Amino acid sequence: MRISFFGAAQEVTGSCYLVETSSVRFAVDCGLFQGAGDAVRKNRRPFDFDVSRLDFVLLTHAHLDHSGLLPKLVALGFKGPIFCTSATADLLVVMLKDAAYIQEREAEWRKHAGKRHQPLYTVKQAELANKQVQRTEYDRKISPHRGVQCIFRDAGHILGSSILEVWVDDGTRRRKLVFSGDIGQPGHPIVEDPAQVDSADVLLIESTYGNRLHKSMADTVEEFARAVTETIANNKGNVIVPAFAVGRTQDLLYLVVKLFREKHIPELDVYVDSPMAIAATEITLKHLKIADDDAIEAMRWIQGNRGRPRISFVDDHTESIKLSEIAHGALIISASGMCDAGRIKRHLRANLPRRDSSVIFTGFQAAGTLGRRIVDGSKSVRIYGEDVPVEARIFTIGGLSAHADRAALLDWLGHFHRPPEKTFVVHGEATTALDFADTIRQRFGWDVEVPARRDSYEI
Ligand SMILES: [Zn+2]
Repeated sequence: MRISFFGAAQEVTGSCYLVETSSVRFAVDCGLFQGAGDAVRKNRRPFDFDVSRLDFVLLTHAHLDHSGLLPKLVALGFKGPIFCTSATADLLVVMLKDAAYIQEREAEWRKHAGKRHQPLYTVKQAELANKQVQRTEYDRKISPHRGVQCIFRDAGHILGSSILEVWVDDGTRRRKLVFSGDIGQPGHPIVEDPAQVDSADVLLIESTYGNRLHKSMADTVEEFARAVTETIANNKGNVIVPAFAVGRTQDLLYLVVKLFREKHIPELDVYVDSPMAIAATEITLKHLKIADDDAIEAMRWIQGNRGRPRISFVDDHTESIKLSEIAHGALIISASGMCDAGRIKRHLRANLPRRDSSVIFTGFQAAGTLGRRIVDGSKSVRIYGEDVPVEARIFTIGGLSAHADRAALLDWLGHFHRPPEKTFVVHGEATTALDFADTIRQRFGWDVEVPARRDSYEI
């Protein structure tokens, strides 16, 4: 039996692992490479394995760095099933279509500029990939293929996210493989805490924040409440919150309702201005049964207290433009999270020059993005070709991360009853992954590897 690493190996994006025996070949995740550097080239080059000989795919969750190359896989001839949880399947419809739409638009725009550019895949191809999805639920054992069994466990990262327990029988022996996927931080809003796993022969563990500790959720919430109150009640301005449409927007809505109920923030008008966030919020409500108790309770409260706090979902483009005219009292949540595209740019253009308004960043801002320039303290930024002065107050609130920090990852590993024969540290920048591997060796004495892309191991 072999495992090969084709992405998220000494880097954070492009998750894709291949497991092969003499009778079966399957991939776990098929993600897009994202960020600066050579991500574009990596997404465009051929797959490192024979796509037509792949039997099935197991998908840990809907984030594009885990799912975003599935349409390409299907377009190149993969005909097998893609297994994931029901919530992931619903999110995937929205996310793949959106990713394809953005690529089509960009290709068109470049064509106008006289450049040759093919989209990585089209909306039609994204739809075809979604047709191959087969739904499962948490904690149910499925048999995707003869000799392979799998259980999806709740990873507590985003809605539907999973840790995979996979049993593979190659005719001579049976091995248990565990893929951590992205593991959530315990206590994170809406999702349950990550499920514990107690055994594996081979373990793949993510390490996004393997060398960092998050600020506590209580401190984070306090900081957020203070920023909102100062802006809305004292300064009579607006609060702009750039947020990723899936996961973070729902976390923020939950947080605003909670703080309002506890009277930690004043009366305000909340606008969710992103069509994809609206779809993702509807999917969250549809799958509320897998949410944590606090989220279910908050939803009941909202239903019983109609109109308080006032929450509006803005789909229509003209309505979205009108939000720029609001003088004060609005909290606007909009995408993209790193301010590079989407409606958020318009809200920043309207509010950045205002001393009485504020912008609250709650997510990671990658180098080279508009969000990063604002966070780094630029006095002026360019939006839609105009120089926009930055007079608004800028807050950066770090504790809402959907990834477990170093302590939470170690705590999760602490539930194993015996050491895995082999542990692979994946899904982290090279220095972070190597550092976290050392920590695991020191703490538990396990046999740990940090594979590079295209590395392959007999297991
Ligand atoms: Zn993720």
